[in-house]
Amino acid sequence: MTVYLDHAATSPLRPEAREAWLAASDVVGNASSIHGGGQDARRVLEDARERVAAVLGCDPIEVVFTSGGTESINLALKGMWEARQPERRSFVLPDGEHHATMDAAQWLWKNRDAHLLHVGLGSRGAIPVARFTVALPDAAVATAMVANNEVGTLNDVASLAAASAEAGVPLHLDAVAALGHVPFSFSGLRGDAAPGVGLTALSVSAHKVGGPVGVGALVVGRTARLAPQFHGGSQQRGLRAGTQDIAGAAGFAAAAEAAEAEREGEAARLTALRDRLIAGALAIPGTRLLGDPTRRLPGNVHLLFEDAVGETLLFLLDQAGVQASTGSACQAGVPEPSHVVMAIGLDDMAARSVLRFTLGRTTTDADVDTLLRVLPDAVTRARAAASVRS
Ligand code: PLP
Repeated sequence: MTVYLDHAATSPLRPEAREAWLAASDVVGNASSIHGGGQDARRVLEDARERVAAVLGCDPIEVVFTSGGTESINLALKGMWEARQPERRSFVLPDGEHHATMDAAQWLWKNRDAHLLHVGLGSRGAIPVARFTVALPDAAVATAMVANNEVGTLNDVASLAAASAEAGVPLHLDAVAALGHVPFSFSGLRGDAAPGVGLTALSVSAHKVGGPVGVGALVVGRTARLAPQFHGGSQQRGLRAGTQDIAGAAGFAAAAEAAEAEREGEAARLTALRDRLIAGALAIPGTRLLGDPTRRLPGNVHLLFEDAVGETLLFLLDQAGVQASTGSACQAGVPEPSHVVMAIGLDDMAARSVLRFTLGRTTTDADVDTLLRVLPDAVTRARAAASVRS
């Protein structure tokens, strides 16, 4: 039996999402067509939009469906940046954001002469509000994560949103890792910010909450200024051209609703499992927990195993039937140390010695028992392999 502890990479499809997706995929019609079939498709789509909006705490008109988190983030950051040209050039970019954010910002720097203002992370992976606030004046756009997908640390996004509103800067939040795990509301975080500033856009993705892969949403506040990045039809307020994926939207809505309905109970259950996993793993000498011990995602365990290489450990655990992640990007088949782990102050060697276990809806007590049974031997063998190589 395989133990799947990589829910942050993608979470198994929920039965209700599969059913909703299948039912909607049988509807024949383009949601923009005027005939009866088109109207049927539009009803399915707008029902999904309303349900996603209810989960995210925004108006249905503010939900722009996309192909996933990466597209939502690119649309938000490039679109918000472009809308502020030529008067403002700086971009507030915390270290340790997801690659979709880091690379979109780099693209703006290389191709649009954006001025990137990097905000260093605290040693537990949080964005320091004071450092973020200092970078804000006159920025074209600022971005931040609700929760870090690698080390699991939760940010004080209410303060980041308030600081952005106060400074007159539009803020985008990447809520991909947070959806279904920690409570947040777009309108709550937006508060009474002036038009076009403070929280104006928020990204989410369906497959992280048991919805289909290839569907996501960008919440674009009514007063946001955002230049479209796709050109074509006038769908979705003209912000995202292209025939809309009604089956994807229906699957996403079913998954997001189910995740939200069980969020509180699951958070308590996963926190207990997480803390048992952490305690068991820390009993192995030379093991450290990264991120914040308490202000972290309920299902996130991020560990450093001194003198072991994360990839070796990953391989040995996979052989023992446990699937996890190093959390790092793999460039042309060569594992790179994670930029998030480097951003919290680890050196190159330490950054190669980490492993992330992420728990979710299907994780059981028995899964944690299995991991804790096979982990000590895998660590011993990974350390032995590293010492032979060095
Ligand atoms: N942002 C965060 C925090 C993520 O964890 C991910 C996916 O790993 C993304 C963005 C990208 O989302 P998607 O896989 O839907 O493109």
